[in-house]
Amino acid sequence: MRLHHSSLLISTVALAAPVTALLAADFQISEAAEFARCIPAGAKVEKLAGDFQFIEGPVWLKTTGVLVFSDIPQNELKQWSPTGGVKTYRAPSFNANGNTLDLTGRLLSCEHSGRRVAVQEKDGSLRTIVDSFEGKKLNSPNDVVVKSDGALYFTDPEYGLKTDPATKQKIGKEQPGQFVYRHDPKTGRTTAVVRDFVQPNGLAFSPDEKFLYIADSGTPKHIRRFAVAADGSLSGGEVFCTLDAGLPDGIRVDTAGRVWSSAGDGVHIFAPSGKLIGKILTPEGPANLCFGGADGRTLFITARKSLYAIAVAATGAAR
Ligand code: MG
Repeated sequence: MRLHHSSLLISTVALAAPVTALLAADFQISEAAEFARCIPAGAKVEKLAGDFQFIEGPVWLKTTGVLVFSDIPQNELKQWSPTGGVKTYRAPSFNANGNTLDLTGRLLSCEHSGRRVAVQEKDGSLRTIVDSFEGKKLNSPNDVVVKSDGALYFTDPEYGLKTDPATKQKIGKEQPGQFVYRHDPKTGRTTAVVRDFVQPNGLAFSPDEKFLYIADSGTPKHIRRFAVAADGSLSGGEVFCTLDAGLPDGIRVDTAGRVWSSAGDGVHIFAPSGKLIGKILTPEGPANLCFGGADGRTLFITARKSLYAIAVAATGAAR
């Protein structure tokens, strides 16, 4: 069933306001009652800013009320706030992609050209957390999450490496695959926790951290679910869901355990069972998303050249 909530809204509102001031929020709803618990009535997708090159890695900074995100090709971290609009947060970003906060609120960034996960200290300086595994350079870290024990889990696909046109090989690749890593900042130890992804990408813990969801944006175009052991190792890894439009890049989990995934046509919302609840359709294909805003009930969506937001009825499970 495909419902066009806002077309009704627009036809009435348009009498008083120019249609261009509104952006149709189209939804594709599979489970109506559950979708209503995710998206409040009347919510619409709003374009906050545009003219970026390719944006990713949104993270809401609660302390300052600012959204930070990456423009990967532009080599900058951007920031957006309701009052301040768009500004440069940090440049160069070493083509940073995924961002998150650690337990003390420091910004962690996955850098493509830096080929590392870096932390921004409170004084603004950047420090490498991890840039190698078994003595070889990482490919191009893509996204990172932090468990409540402080351990980092991050993905290392090869998207940030250039391809040699003659050989079709990735230039400078040192790792034998595209792995998912766990890094323990207390010991400095890095472990490859999953090795069988084509291109591991977004990742997010269930609210109780018993499960870690990891997207494979390579040929499988699915999200897998791993059980997390007390020692931080992963097992299982069954397919949780497969996308029917585009590929899963950034993913988030809400406090009810639903999985919100970027997709080719918008954001797909899945029940903890893996069943599709519905979709938020967007004008450009999202690469990532995050919950934020003053009450945590805004979903920010980084979609190609534009930043979008929509009011939601859910809040994020992670910090
Ligand atoms: Mg990504």
